[in-house]
Amino acid sequence: MSLEQAGRALADEASRFSALGWMRGTSGNLSVRLGDEPLRLAVTASGKDKGELTHHDVVVVDEAGSAVADQPDPTRRPSAEAGLHARIASVTGAGAIVHGHVLATVIAGERWPKGVVLRDLEMLKGLGRGAHDDEVTIPVVPNSQDMAVLGDAFEDSYESGVPALIVARHGVYVWGEDLHQARHRAECLEWILQFHLATEQ
Ligand SMILES: [Zn+2]
Repeated sequence: MSLEQAGRALADEASRFSALGWMRGTSGNLSVRLGDEPLRLAVTASGKDKGELTHHDVVVVDEAGSAVADQPDPTRRPSAEAGLHARIASVTGAGAIVHGHVLATVIAGERWPKGVVLRDLEMLKGLGRGAHDDEVTIPVVPNSQDMAVLGDAFEDSYESGVPALIVARHGVYVWGEDLHQARHRAECLEWILQFHLATEQ
């Protein structure tokens, strides 16, 4: 995928996420893998209205989430959260990662701070899991402004087969093979958590 293609795909997806109310203010960020060895991700630029991005509003970052020197526009900065995108991409092999301040996920993290346990829901198939007799725990980690701390918490809680992480009082990260799969998973997870919050005591 070229950087221009990545920029267009990220802008399209960010517009959808904004329409869903998942990127209030300038919050949230999306990334897509551009290359391996060394890892390179295209990440949405910081401080922009995510409903109004163009394919130029993208930054190439390295395995630490830092902007690489060779950029079309070196004045654009990645979000600090790019560090967690890079960590998730490294650990999981994901092709795309989406992060939004999705209210249902934050409320679920508040209600079940040790992890949100889910089972027996058709929509779990949307996360690549079974609709029956397959227990899935979405990990919840404390919020931090230090991406190394968040990254370590993510790795400690990570189980392959669970493509999501809730950051308490903050938002959610969801990943997949590509941006479409990551969004579909985020949509299904949001539905599942709305259901869980409405039905579980
Ligand atoms: Zn955030």
